[in-house]
Amino acid sequence: MNKNRPEVRVRFAPSPTGYLHVGGVRTLFFNWLFAKKNNGKFILRIEDTDQVRSTKENETLMISDIMNLGFKFDEGPCEGGKFGPYRQSERLSIYAKHARQLLDEQKVYYCFCSDELLTQKRKAALTLGRTPHYDGTCAKIETKEAENRLRRGEKAGLRFKVIEKDYVLEDLVRGQVAFKTGMVGDFFITRTPTAQETEVEAEIGMPVYNFSCAIDDHLMEISHVIRGEEHLSNTVRQLMIYEAFGWELPLFAHTAMVLGQDKQKLSKRNGDVSTHDYLDKGYFQEALLNFLSLLGWWPPQGYKTKSGHPEIIYLDELIQIFDLSDLQKAPAVFDIEKLKWMNSYYMRHFSLEEVTNRAKSFFHKAGLVNYDQAWFQLVIDAVRGEAVFLSELPEKATLFFETTPFIEEQAIPIAKQPLSQKIIEQLLEELKSCSETIQSTVIDMISKKISMQTGAKGKELFMPIRIAITGRTHGPELKKILPLLGKEKVIQRIEFVKKALDG
Ligand code: GLU
Repeated sequence: MNKNRPEVRVRFAPSPTGYLHVGGVRTLFFNWLFAKKNNGKFILRIEDTDQVRSTKENETLMISDIMNLGFKFDEGPCEGGKFGPYRQSERLSIYAKHARQLLDEQKVYYCFCSDELLTQKRKAALTLGRTPHYDGTCAKIETKEAENRLRRGEKAGLRFKVIEKDYVLEDLVRGQVAFKTGMVGDFFITRTPTAQETEVEAEIGMPVYNFSCAIDDHLMEISHVIRGEEHLSNTVRQLMIYEAFGWELPLFAHTAMVLGQDKQKLSKRNGDVSTHDYLDKGYFQEALLNFLSLLGWWPPQGYKTKSGHPEIIYLDELIQIFDLSDLQKAPAVFDIEKLKWMNSYYMRHFSLEEVTNRAKSFFHKAGLVNYDQAWFQLVIDAVRGEAVFLSELPEKATLFFETTPFIEEQAIPIAKQPLSQKIIEQLLEELKSCSETIQSTVIDMISKKISMQTGAKGKELFMPIRIAITGRTHGPELKKILPLLGKEKVIQRIEFVKKALDG
């Protein structure tokens, strides 16, 4: 626990410059689990100071995806809270005040170097094999002169004067992380505002991520900063900012990287990374979260899951057993096949009612709206074993919704064989003599009878029966299909297939 901040307060701080990345959801989830486990507060902060790349649409979609995943925040732009506002673009005066303090204390200085000049200097350093640190040209400019240049309309950002010393971080995942002196050059805490950024104080500039983040984590009394390891190079800059203000540090936990199958950082080049797309396809949020939780975290040794499977861990269990000390250092690989397997596990193990409810909107989207509820539930029961995610269900259930019978091209030669034709003929006879409501057991009885009469067994018996009834070589179990279609439709379909074979 954080001795300075006994109340656990964690935050998720996305930049709305794109969609909600699944790696971001993993970070969010670890923060949420940690807050839940410790009766803490879970805060949303929108980091939108990069106003060129941030959009309101991205923010809205991100928040709606987060809600659809089932998360709620205790404080945030929609919820409010005593440390608000929670959108950084609404906190510019706070950053300006803090920047001015550092300016007065000569811990930052104006940098007038243009982007072109800085790029040139960076390239030159790289050619010489040096780390491209800022060369300190503008650090020599007297404050008075800098102010005059600003008054004359020159553009500048504020640069932090890095102190030459080692920094050490006690990270909750990685242990002691040392940042050697010279690793970081003087860095910008604010940049020249663009023409659209009129609300910012021109001579202070627009805050950049490391500055606004450190200030907000401090002012919002964040106890633990849990974020991806790719932020370590930012963390050292943030440590310097904390030090400059004389603030206590929050505790840090840098989680392992998430890699794609090619062992490169997970991105849209090597995988599907948009959370919205996963939800749209009908991945269960429970399965997605279960899967993400195991990227860089593992339950305590010897833990017995309720499901009996070591990797199927339900949300209530995760809340109980999650601990930062079980976060792993080694990078985790995002294995989409494993996620698919997990989703089909949830598909088969959730209650039928639950899956039916969640499936409805996917059938609506496919234009399948008029059906009896009880019948629909049985349709879902028949097809859920074959689907990985919810959006596959309507297609798997086509058979039950089609109004005219159908036969697949590849099924015709199989059904045309003499033995198949005999089986189909007898199937039709048997079904005609059945009672109106077909029970699921009927198909077993009939197949046994046909097997005895024709000598057919296994696939040679069941394939023609399946084709005759469904027109397809694959599909749900026959015993589930018959009661759903009903006698009249089944007979109609068999007669259709027979005709197709004659043609
Ligand atoms: N806005 C940063 C990002 O989206 C937040 C990083 C942090 O958690 O500090 O990467």
